[in-house]
Amino acid sequence: MSAREQRSWLTGLIGHGVGPSLTPEMHEREAERQGLRYVYKVIEQPDGAVDPAHLERLLAGAIELGYDGLNVTHPVKQAMVPLVDETAPAVRAIGALNTIILRDGRTTGHNTDVTGFTRAFTDGLPDVDRDRVVLLGAGGAGTAVAHALVDLGVRRLFVVDLDPLRAARLAESVGGSGTEVEIVQPTAGWLRATVAMATGLINASPMGMAAHPGSPVPPELLRPELWVADIVYRPLHTTLLEDAAAAGCTVLTGAGMAVHQAADAFELITGRPADRAAMLRDFDELVAAETNPSRNTTEERNR
Ligand code: NAD
Repeated sequence: MSAREQRSWLTGLIGHGVGPSLTPEMHEREAERQGLRYVYKVIEQPDGAVDPAHLERLLAGAIELGYDGLNVTHPVKQAMVPLVDETAPAVRAIGALNTIILRDGRTTGHNTDVTGFTRAFTDGLPDVDRDRVVLLGAGGAGTAVAHALVDLGVRRLFVVDLDPLRAARLAESVGGSGTEVEIVQPTAGWLRATVAMATGLINASPMGMAAHPGSPVPPELLRPELWVADIVYRPLHTTLLEDAAAAGCTVLTGAGMAVHQAADAFELITGRPADRAAMLRDFDELVAAETNPSRNTTEERNR
């Protein structure tokens, strides 16, 4: 480890149910490796409706206390957007941020879920056909993934969500880009027809987590020419990915997105390059430790 620097860094995660998040530990381990004095606080919030006046006070407090950066998650990702002074281009289009940089009393919002997924995809599935992609789940994470897919040059994107309003909102947010977006009915027949003509499929719905067991795609729809990615990472090897691997598909787990969103936020906060390979190793270790019942948490969330 290099000699410790004089300056210190103060960061935190604002959201509901953030106790089990692996992000604080990923940041602190990376900072430790770099010899930084870096403290990452968990700032738990109530679930449900968000009071903008409360968030404004939180932001003002963070500035006053000398915070350098904040990660932001459910349920305040959207509500924070109008409260920051500046935003990275993707933030307004998506309507959500997950990182706020605080410098000289000013705040800038970023969305590292987008950049994190982009990096995970280019590293993990560098040569796959991006022509026709099915995206399951049009919530906060699905919308970030959709914007990443636009940046990755996907030609046609088929969006499936049980909630048609969410699918419509996602389609509107990526409208006008080079990617043609189509909303697909969440019925067995439509899913079968769409998967049959797709080159790739991404699950950004909660299906596959312990609280939502099973797969959103019947295994008989999977074929070796289709690549399959899941952003769920608890567990890493979801039923969908297990079925896809058994069918001969190239697969990508949710680990890359989780690690690269953290690495991107770390770099924005500190201005220093993160050791992503080491962060991936840390993440694997942290996830493996969770399978030990003595370290299990009661709440199953991916953050
Ligand atoms: P969300 O609740 O905002 O959205 C989930 C969406 O999925 C909802 O719109 C819901 O209607 C839809 N849905 C549920 N079941 C479906 C199905 N069978 N088919 C199609 N759509 C379905 O949640 P979110 O914040 O978008 O997160 C979604 C999942 O992504 C989380 O459960 C988490 O596991 C994962 N996630 C991973 C990372 C990562 O870094 N790897 C980051 C964020 C979220």
